[in-house]
Amino acid sequence: MAFDYDLFVIGGGSGGVRAARLAAAEAGAQVGLAEEYRMGGTCVIRGCVPKKLMVFASGYAGAMQDARAYGWDVAAGGFDWAAFRTRLDAELDRLEGIYRGNLQKAGVEIFDTRAVLADAHTVRLADGTEKTARHILVATGGRPFVPEFPGSEHVITSNEVFRFEALPKRILIVGGGYIACEFACILSGLGVKVTQYYRGAQILRGFDEEARGHIAGAMCDQGIGLRLGCNVQRIDRVADGLWVKATDGHDGVYDAVLYATGRVPNTAGLGLEDLGIGLKGNGAVEVDGYSQTAVPSIYAVGDVTDRINLTPVAIREGAAFVETVFKGNPTRADHELVPGAVFTRPEFGTVGLSEEEARARGGVEVYATAFRPMQSGFSGREDRVLMKLILCAHTRRVLGCHIVADHAGEMIQLAAIAIRMGATKDDFDRTVAVHPTMAEELVTLKAPVRTW
Ligand SMILES: Cc1cc2nc3c(=O)[nH]c(=O)nc-3n(C[C@H](O)[C@H](O)[C@H](O)COP(=O)(O)OP(=O)(O)OC[C@H]3O[C@@H](n4cnc5c(N)ncnc54)[C@H](O)[C@@H]3O)c2cc1C
Repeated sequence: MAFDYDLFVIGGGSGGVRAARLAAAEAGAQVGLAEEYRMGGTCVIRGCVPKKLMVFASGYAGAMQDARAYGWDVAAGGFDWAAFRTRLDAELDRLEGIYRGNLQKAGVEIFDTRAVLADAHTVRLADGTEKTARHILVATGGRPFVPEFPGSEHVITSNEVFRFEALPKRILIVGGGYIACEFACILSGLGVKVTQYYRGAQILRGFDEEARGHIAGAMCDQGIGLRLGCNVQRIDRVADGLWVKATDGHDGVYDAVLYATGRVPNTAGLGLEDLGIGLKGNGAVEVDGYSQTAVPSIYAVGDVTDRINLTPVAIREGAAFVETVFKGNPTRADHELVPGAVFTRPEFGTVGLSEEEARARGGVEVYATAFRPMQSGFSGREDRVLMKLILCAHTRRVLGCHIVADHAGEMIQLAAIAIRMGATKDDFDRTVAVHPTMAEELVTLKAPVRTW
């Protein structure tokens, strides 16, 4: 049977774009791709990229305070959100153009429309046109989830944060995951009065507990009103904003309420179940290690599969799919020892097992140190850095590394290479320190603080 395409990709985000481009440019495949919103997907348009630019913007208030301590005669005016947003929009337009251009250069045919599955080899576009393909890749990502409660229609999500007409003066952020915590620090750095509710006992569930406590403490020190064990009961619009009543009796009026309480995969109405493709409880597509669904011609990568929801993982899954299907080289998407960063202030870089995960296995040693870094110590800030290594007591292999410090995201990338290569504590110790840096503490940790 002749198909219109060798591959049709639904979704022009991190995973879909990478797969489409590699299949076309490196394997000579005929590729079509449908994107219903903007090319580049969540990462480029309303995730990693605009968020990181806001992280940079928010860092200048502290930097200017530090500068004065270092002898600079600087006076900060206010933060001009409108000026920043104009530049941000232009940058996102530029990046979107690059993504589109790269696909076109590779010969991918782009459809700026929604697509759904019609059968195992057919996608249907919004205008009813059908396109056939030998293989279909579902890469539709995810979207923010807001639970229903009285007043839930008043809240915004991370999608809208980048579109504020004016920065709110007071914001309530609901959630304790990395997106909630990052926006709490960003907005607080930009001068917004931030209150954060999280229903659990500590923010950043799933990460190393000591690091979670360290970050929560730093956030409170910055003036973020963090309320744990607390959820929203109801929201009412009042004359001067949104009145929020909390489950712990707390109440307050805010200019905006941002919900960052999780994300759900974009599978509704895609036609997956009609084809017999399994969905997990939250709607994520069920796939095997090669990202193949129960229908052999249909694969899925990225957040829509809810494995590890990070851009580099979606990209790797897209590339592994192309290796497997178009290059005759069956390749499993690799989810081992994936490093990550949380762009709070200070940042958190993490790879491998947390102390709690390691403790459950037993036979582990924990090395850790917390100290005031030289740069902010000099300027009188109270920041503290945390450096932590988790070791297998028998092999001395480093099983996990957790860093809370400015630029921890940069540090953890390099530590992750060593850990991925199987580095032991002795390898770390043999490595000469780079002085004076924060990271040198990683190679000078002398004795375990705990053994399990
Ligand atoms: C606020 C925020 C911050 C983040 N920060 C980071 C970070 O710092 N580091 C990191 O690694 N990850 C980060 N992420 C996660 C990262 O953005 C995602 O893991 C990544 O974008 C997933 O890529 P994807 O290709 O699976 O999906 P997406 O990038 O979401 O792309 C899916 C695309 O499919 C389109 N689409 C959906 N349905 C259809 C349809 N039926 N037809 C046509 N098109 C469709 C959507 O419009 C979208 O463009 C962040 C996410 C958010 C929300």
